[in-house]
This record gives sequence, structure tokens and C-alpha cells, in this order.
Amino acid sequence: MKNIHFLLFLFSGFLLINAQTPAEMASAIEKEATENSQLPALAHELMDVVGPRLVGTPQMENAHEWAVFTFSKWGISAENEAWGTWRGWERGITHIDMLSPRVVSLSGRQLAWSPGTSSKGITANLITIPTMADSAAFAKWVPAVKGKFVLVSMPQPTGRPDYNWEEFATPESFEKMKAERDAMEDAWNQKIRNTGYNSRTFNEALEKAGAVGIVQSRWSSGFGANKIFSAGTKKIPVVDLSLEDYGMLYRLVENGRDPLIRIVAESKELGRVPTFNTIATIPGTEFPDEYIVLSAHFDSWDGGTGATDNGTGTITMMETARILKKLYPNPKRTIIVGLWGSEEQGLNGSRAFVEDRPEVVEGLQALFNQDNGTGRVVNLSGQGFLHSYEYLGRWLEAVPESITRHIETTFPGNPGRGGSDYASFVAMGAPAFSLSSLSWSYWNYTWHTNLDTYDKIVFDDVRNNVILTAILTYMASEDPEKTSREKAVLSINPRTGEQREWPTPRSPNREGGID
Ligand SMILES: [Zn+2]
Repeated sequence: MKNIHFLLFLFSGFLLINAQTPAEMASAIEKEATENSQLPALAHELMDVVGPRLVGTPQMENAHEWAVFTFSKWGISAENEAWGTWRGWERGITHIDMLSPRVVSLSGRQLAWSPGTSSKGITANLITIPTMADSAAFAKWVPAVKGKFVLVSMPQPTGRPDYNWEEFATPESFEKMKAERDAMEDAWNQKIRNTGYNSRTFNEALEKAGAVGIVQSRWSSGFGANKIFSAGTKKIPVVDLSLEDYGMLYRLVENGRDPLIRIVAESKELGRVPTFNTIATIPGTEFPDEYIVLSAHFDSWDGGTGATDNGTGTITMMETARILKKLYPNPKRTIIVGLWGSEEQGLNGSRAFVEDRPEVVEGLQALFNQDNGTGRVVNLSGQGFLHSYEYLGRWLEAVPESITRHIETTFPGNPGRGGSDYASFVAMGAPAFSLSSLSWSYWNYTWHTNLDTYDKIVFDDVRNNVILTAILTYMASEDPEKTSREKAVLSINPRTGEQREWPTPRSPNREGGID
């Protein structure tokens, strides 16, 4: 029996390794991705166990270690390459409770890099910002914030997204609500301008005047969704509250009910910590100095768990590498997986990589980046490379029609200038492409929000992207020709009337989190 199993094993291995034609390889990839998908397990480990991956946090380091460990389980060598340092910070427990006029726990969290509190927290009343004529009036008023939490966001008139109004409101009522909201926003923006500060410098002014904390609510225009970015204070905590908990506090203050809240925000400052990219490599056999890079940023904001930004891009590239290592272990060209650090603060990991690893930029056959949510790929642009049509078109022919029928291609397209890590390579004139996804309400619901969590992952679409990426990588690796980098004559920008110029490379921030 044993021998028979061994023979069957050998035979199946023989079949896999000898899946030589593109069609055979494509169908082997599709079968492995479908029948042996590791995506749910990878998503669980990354989002549920590691959690969000803010640069400079211990969770980011855990993520890098987990990635190296996972690649090594698959027989792929990987390393964490240090490229700089960042302000080290660790999120702790956040509890926000209203103590008076009644007791209720509120839904919110400390912002990234916000100063923390003791475990007892800070208990104080709240204040709203009145309308003032000018900066002199603001200077006269601002001592009133001393000892108080300041409510700094406009209270939203509705927590229902516009699509919900459109469905249920009378057209007159919907139009009236929008007009009122626009007027409120204009008045609010004018009020902040009158103080002489802008939204970036305002919190610091309140801190200087003795406020004990800042309470904001940055609604993301979807049910229950708030954008969660970083705090702009040095000593006092900044928390973001859900739209309605914020609205309730605001109404209580405005109606003279003088609510009392307690904020416990136990974050820790950790000094300077190193930052990394995880780089996995499957060496090429015929052209080892030519590269296909599977690219995704590994870091995230930390309002949720970074599931769709960019957990899904990350697991797409990891699963692609796993499948290729299994079915195509000796690629003609070297396959690299680049899981970049600190994309969110300005493509820092990938910008460092193009500086530190010029041989990969020089030998780049193609780079595929995915970073705009969980959706199936629907757009592919030639990024301004004149002959991209020829090779991308040829590679796409090997991809099943069930996948390519969703993809709209643009050739030669315009070079990407930012937005995600492929732009770091495009700026160097290297053929890097963005596998751009269907939105699945990305912008309002999951991009940099508290709702960017595991439950939003659409595994069928992610699997679709794995199959696409794996086949494109195989085709790029097997291509008898090295890809052309000839740049197209760029189009006229209709906004400026001038001809577009190729983007220029920018240096990374290798010492992040310093003012
Ligand atoms: Zn992203």
C-alpha cells in the first residue's frame, strides 16, 4: 500500500511540475486556488490574531514575523529588511463612558499616536465651539476650554447615508436635508476659519489653552462608519466617537445638560523602533536577474483590522506565491513578494526598496500591485508604457475568460503618481501595474474606517484575483522577451492644457513620526 501511495504521489507531482502549456498551468492554478484555498486561514491569522498593522507598533512587527514564518512553511525563503525607524506606539484599552446625566458606555477609540491617559482616565465635562467673529474673539474665548473635553466636529444632521435617503425619503425631503447639511457645513468651516487656525492646527491650539482632551467624530458617510487617522496633539488624548454618541453629547451640551464623561486611553510610547519590508524570494533558474514582483502594502491604519486595506492585497500575494511555489517551483525569472511597510504615510517601504535594491528595479520584468479593497480586479492600465499592450495582452490571453471578462484595460494609459506602491516603481521607469478592484463600497465603508474588518472580505473575489495574479506571474516569468520600458508620449492634461510629464521618484521618510 505504502509503495502505491508513494508512486501516486510521485505521479501527481510529475503531472503538476509538467503542466507545461500555459493552458495546463492556468487550469492547475485555478484548481489549486479553488480546491485548496488558504485565504480564509491567512485572513484569520492576519486580521484576527495579528490585528491592525500601524507602522511603529508591536503588531506591525508581529505581522512581519508571521509573514516570514508562513512563507518558510511553504518552503519560500523570506526576510524582514529594515529600511528606517518610526515613533513606537502601542494602542491599549480605550473606554469612553458617559457618567452624567445617565451612565452609558460610548462607542469610540483613541486615534493613532494619541497621547494616553492613566488607567484611571480623565473625567471632565465637555464644551462646544461657539461662532466667533475673528481670531481675536477666539483668543478671548479659548481659556474656556481649560479642564474640559472639546467637541471639535460638526454634529451630523443624519446618520443615514444618502443612498438610504434616496430610497425612502420623499424627493423634497431628501433635497431639503442636503441643502440644510450643506449650509451647516459651510457655516462650520467658516467658524473654524474665523479662529485663525485650520483643521490641522486647531487641536494643538486647544491643547495649549488647557483642554484635557479632544472628542471628534469623522463620519465616513455610511451607516456606522468613521474614518480613523492620527491625533494632532502632544499631551492630551484625542478620541473618535461614533456619529450618534457624538451627536448625543453635542445635543446635551447645547441644551445645558452639562454631560460628564470619562476617557481611559492606555496607550504606550515605545521610543524609536525599526521598520521593515517583508521580502520573499523564489529564485529564477534561467534569468535570475530578472524579476516579477508581487506587491502589496502590509501596514494599515488601526480603526479596524486593515482587512480590505490592505489585508486582502497581502493575502492575495501570499496565496499566489504559495500556489506558484507548489506548481511552478523553478520559475525562469525570480519571483519576489514585497510586503511593504508604511505605505499609509507615503509609500515609504516601497520607496526605500527601489532605492536600496536597484538591481530589482533594473531587472524588473513586471510588478503587480493590489491595494484597493476586496473586490475582483476590474481595471488594468498600461501605466504609460508604450508596449504594455503587447505583453500584458499576451499574458492575459492565458487567464480564464470568467476572470478577464470583468477587466477593462487602458493602453498605454498614464503613469500612476501615487496612491499605492506600484507608483514607486513607475516613477523609476520600471513596468509596474495596479490590479484595480471593484469597490464593494470601499471608500465610504472600509477605507481607513473602524469597519475595515474580516467580515467585509469577499473570498470569491480575492480568489479570482489570486488566480489572475498567479497566471500573469507565470506568463511574465515564461515570456521569451524582457518587457519593454519605452514610455508613451503622454497626453495633454485637460485641466492645465499642458502635456503630462513622467512622475519623478521621491525619497522615503526613513525617520517617521518626528515632528
Ligand atoms: Zn492601501
